[in-house]
Amino acid sequence: MQMSECIFCRIVKKEIPADIVFENDHILAFSDIHPQSPVHILVIPKKHVARLMDLSEEDMPVIHEVHKAVQVLARQRDVHQSGFRVVVNNGANAGQAVDHIHYHLLAGRQFSWPPG
Ligand code: 5GP
Ligand code: ZN
Repeated sequence: MQMSECIFCRIVKKEIPADIVFENDHILAFSDIHPQSPVHILVIPKKHVARLMDLSEEDMPVIHEVHKAVQVLARQRDVHQSGFRVVVNNGANAGQAVDHIHYHLLAGRQFSWPPG
C-alpha cells in the first residue's frame, strides 16, 4: 500500500477528520470510529510503519512515547486505577485491518479473557 493511501497517514496529515485527543511531534492519538468500549483510543506513531513486526531499532523510541501517552490518557479518562487494556493486532490471524501500527487503548468496562 502507498503511504498516501493509508487512512491513518491521512489522519496524521489532517486530510481526513478525527477526534484527536493527544498529539506531539512523533505520535497521535484519536478516538476509534467504531468504539468497542466506553474508552477506545488509537495511539499511533506519525511515521508509517505497517505492522509491529516492521518496527526497526530506530523506531523504538517512539514506542516508548506511545506508552507514555497511554499513561497520560488513562489518567485523563480516570481509568488508570480501574484498569484498561492495550491491544496491538499484528497481521491476518490477529485481524489487523489497518496497515499502520496502532495501539488500541480500551477501558470503561470489564473485559473477558481469552480474547475472541
Ligand atoms: P485493527 O483491526 O486494524 O487492529 O483496528 C483498526 C481500527 O481502526 C478499528 O477499531 C477501526 O474501527 C478503526 N478505524 C478504521 N478506520 C478508521 C477511521 O477512518 N477513523 C478512525 N478514527 N478509526 C478508524
Ligand atoms: Zn500510514
